[in-house]
Amino acid sequence: MSKSELNKLTIKQAIEKLNNKEITSVELTAACLARIKSVNGKINACLTVCEEQALVEAKKADEIRQAGQGQAMSLLGIPYLAKDNIMTKNIKTTAGSKILENYIACYDAVIIKKLKQAGAVLLGKTNMDEFAHGSSTENSAFGTTHNPWDLSCVPGGSSGGSAAAVATDMCLFALGTDTGGSIRHPAGFCGITGLKPTYGRSSRFGLISMTSSTDVPGPLTKTVEDAMLVLQVIEGVDKNDATTVEITPSTPLCQGENLKGLTVGLPKEYFIEGIEKGVKQAIEQAIEEFKKLGVRFVEVSLPHTKYGVPVYYIITPSEISSNLARFDGIKYGLSVMDEKNHIHSLFDIYAKSRGKGFGPEAKRRIMLGTYALSAGYYDAYYIQAQKVRTKIKQEMDKVLGQVNCLLTPTAPHVAFKIGSKSADPLKMYLEDIFVTGASLSGLPAISIPCGFDHSLPVGLQLIGKKFDEAMLFRIGHNYQTATEWHLKRAKSFY
Ligand code: GLN
Repeated sequence: MSKSELNKLTIKQAIEKLNNKEITSVELTAACLARIKSVNGKINACLTVCEEQALVEAKKADEIRQAGQGQAMSLLGIPYLAKDNIMTKNIKTTAGSKILENYIACYDAVIIKKLKQAGAVLLGKTNMDEFAHGSSTENSAFGTTHNPWDLSCVPGGSSGGSAAAVATDMCLFALGTDTGGSIRHPAGFCGITGLKPTYGRSSRFGLISMTSSTDVPGPLTKTVEDAMLVLQVIEGVDKNDATTVEITPSTPLCQGENLKGLTVGLPKEYFIEGIEKGVKQAIEQAIEEFKKLGVRFVEVSLPHTKYGVPVYYIITPSEISSNLARFDGIKYGLSVMDEKNHIHSLFDIYAKSRGKGFGPEAKRRIMLGTYALSAGYYDAYYIQAQKVRTKIKQEMDKVLGQVNCLLTPTAPHVAFKIGSKSADPLKMYLEDIFVTGASLSGLPAISIPCGFDHSLPVGLQLIGKKFDEAMLFRIGHNYQTATEWHLKRAKSFY
C-alpha cells in the first residue's frame, strides 16, 4: 500500500502498522488531509479542516510512540472527524446553523477529551442537518452533503457528513450523535457501520443538545470491530452527565467467538409492505447468511411500533423548544475567538447572526414543541406521548428478554434524491420509522451494510439489550468476517 493510500486503512489495521513502525501518524494524517482536499469539494462532508493542528497532534503521537510510551493510549495517532454539534476547544462548532456560524467553544466535549487522552488526532468537523434535525443533511445552513455512491442523492442524516467522510476514507472514523437515528440512518445510506450506544453509555457533556432524553454520541466506522475500539474510549460514567452510569467497560471481541446457539428476533411490524423490494431482498439474504453462521430466528411482535414516529415527533420538538431557547442571544455571556484571534462576546455574535436566524426545520420544531408543552395541550400531547413511550420501551425490553437481539432494516429504502422530500416534512419524518424505537427506549443499535439496491447501499439494524453492545459487536463482527459488503466503496471515488 502506497503512503498516499493510508487513509483507506481501518483503525485496527492502522494501529498494527503504527506499532510495527511500518507507518507514522504524520503519514496517516497527511493521507487523510490530502483525501479531504481532493474529494470534499464534491461531497461537502467537512465544514472545518484543521490541517496544521492535526499534523502537530500526529507528530506528537509519533514522538510518544517512538519514546516507547503511550501503551495505554489505544487510539494513538489515529485521525478522525467529529460532527459539528460536538464542542471542540478553539475549533468552530456550528451545529450546521447560521446562528452558531462563528461559535468557538471554550472547552472540549467529554468524548473529545477522552479521544485526546487516547491519542486520537482530530482532523476537523463534519456537516449535518441544522441542530441535528433531519434525515438528509439538506437542513444544513452550509449546503447539503452528497452521497458518494450517487452525488444526486442525500447521504442520510443528520450525521450525513460523518457518514460520507468515512465512506470515502477521508478519515479512519468519525463521531456522530444519534437522537432518533442520526448515526444509523446515514451509516445505512452510505454503506458503513454506525453505532448508537445505549443511552447513558457515552457522555453528552459538550454536545449541542437536541433531545436530552435520547441524545447519545457514537462512532461511524468502516467495520464493527472499529466501532468497538472507539466505544471503548468514549464510554464511561461522567460527573457532568448525570444520565451516564457506572458500567462494565465493553470487553474486546473474543477471537473465535461464533454465533452458534444465538436467537435473533424479527419484529413483524418492521417487515411491512412499504419496504422497497431490493432492501427486503438484501435483508433476507443477510438472514440466510446468519442462519449459516448458526443463528436461529424467531418472529416477534412489537405492536406499538407504529406509534414510534408520532411519539418521537411530540417528545423531540418539546425538548428542542426548551433546549434551543438558550440561543436567545442573552444567556450566554461567554467570549469566543474568531479566526483572527479577536475576542467577541457571544451576545454580539448572536445579535449579529440572529438576523439570519434558525432555518425552517428548527423553527417548525420550536413551534411544534412549544404548542405540545403549552397549557391545555400538555396533557393531550406531551404527557400522552410520554405514556406511549413507556409502552414502547416496556414492549422492547420484554421482547429482548426472549432473544439475544433484534434484526430489522435500518430504513425502508436506500438513499433518495436530493430535494425529493425536503418540501414535505411528514415524508421526511417517516424516514425514522425503524430507528425511533431504539432511541425512545434508550437501547443500543448498530447499522451495518448488507447489500445494494439500485446500486445504493442497504443497511441492516441490530437492536440490543440495554448496555449489551457486546452482543451487537459479536453478531456484527461475525457477519463482516463472513461477508464483504463493508469492503465495498463507491467506484467513482477510487
Ligand atoms: N431524523 C431524526 C430527526 O430529524 C434524526 C435526529 C437525530 O438523531 N439527531 O429528528
